[in-house]
Amino acid sequence: MNNNILASRLSAIKPSPTIAMTARAAALKKQGRDILSLSAGEPDFKTPQHIIDAATNAMNKGFTRYTSPAGLPEFRDAVARKLKRDNGLTYSADDIHVGVGGKQVIANALMATINHGDEVIIPAPYWVSYVDLVLLFGGKPVVITGHEKNNFKITPQDLEKAITPKTKWFIFNNPSNPTGMGYDKGELQALGAVLANHESIYILTDEIYEFLVYDDFRFTAFAEANPALFDRTITLNGLSKAYAMTGFRVGYGAGPRAIISAMNMVQSQLTSSTSTVSQWAGVAALDGNHDFIATHNAEFKKRRDMVLAALLSIDGISCVKPNGAFYLYPCVKHFIGKKTKDGKTIDSDDAMAEYLLERAEVALVAGSAFGLSPYIRISYATSMDILQKAMTRVKESLAELR
Ligand code: PLP
Repeated sequence: MNNNILASRLSAIKPSPTIAMTARAAALKKQGRDILSLSAGEPDFKTPQHIIDAATNAMNKGFTRYTSPAGLPEFRDAVARKLKRDNGLTYSADDIHVGVGGKQVIANALMATINHGDEVIIPAPYWVSYVDLVLLFGGKPVVITGHEKNNFKITPQDLEKAITPKTKWFIFNNPSNPTGMGYDKGELQALGAVLANHESIYILTDEIYEFLVYDDFRFTAFAEANPALFDRTITLNGLSKAYAMTGFRVGYGAGPRAIISAMNMVQSQLTSSTSTVSQWAGVAALDGNHDFIATHNAEFKKRRDMVLAALLSIDGISCVKPNGAFYLYPCVKHFIGKKTKDGKTIDSDDAMAEYLLERAEVALVAGSAFGLSPYIRISYATSMDILQKAMTRVKESLAELR
């Protein structure tokens, strides 16, 4: 094979570590291993029936052709209604871009705007794809860390310090994958106050876990908390998580029309559009009954509480109690430097994830993938039964370390 066949830009990126671990767990299962997978960011709930019915109806009505690259007008209208209803944000369909999941909307935004060397501020721990997408398009990720003692949230001072004349974007995720922590309105305004003084910086706010919040946490959209930044903000959201529609592949972004138009142009060359059938299902999702979200959240909350209690019963583990998404991000520092029964040293959270996969047969993702070690990410978007078994095994395997 010609060694030059692969583009040099690929040397800057790696496969998504969460997808890689999930695929590895599936491959081991196929070989007969009893692997419990807590690595995927995918709800285990069925897509609600009225959404499935809308997809079927769309096909039966012959809505099986291309839509415009911006997205199906009826779906963009439904997005505009949603943003008004839930977030108090006023957009028209022309301010909205629809892509193949939130992931592609982020990719389109960065492809449409990043020039070589542009800096993008990303709070860590971060969702795995932000850094690699910035690198893919020649940008420079500038990572700032939210520490455990501050519930993994960055401070306005951290943000101010990271800004340079080359800063183009601030990519923000609330509630967060991987920590599950949400920023409240006051915290969003404190970050917004910093950005208000730097007029050339744009904000990409990923709000895909908006509806997955617990206890008394109240979600506020970044642009809603910071009206002065509305013209510089792309609000990103999608159907994958709250509506259990990961396979439908629908995400959207709303923001300044010049950027949205550029994203539509990119889309017209890359994919034409996401699936028409999925967008019709999306109209039913956004406009339809949302009662299932409370039902799902009640179950997620039970799981969170169970897994958190199990983690805190393990000597040496600390874990912040998250108020959103479906992840926990326990610290495994206490175990770094310890040895397994067969003499291997756990020298990193990668080694810990490897050990738990091999010894406990539990698939988790190492904190290194999210830019903050030594932690592991646990997704509780799986059944209580699997979670209980997994936590028993994790506890037993950690107790073997010396
Ligand atoms: N943003 C965050 C924070 C996520 O966790 C994910 C999925 O894991 C996405 C975006 C992308 O989701 P999708 O492409 O399925 O809409």
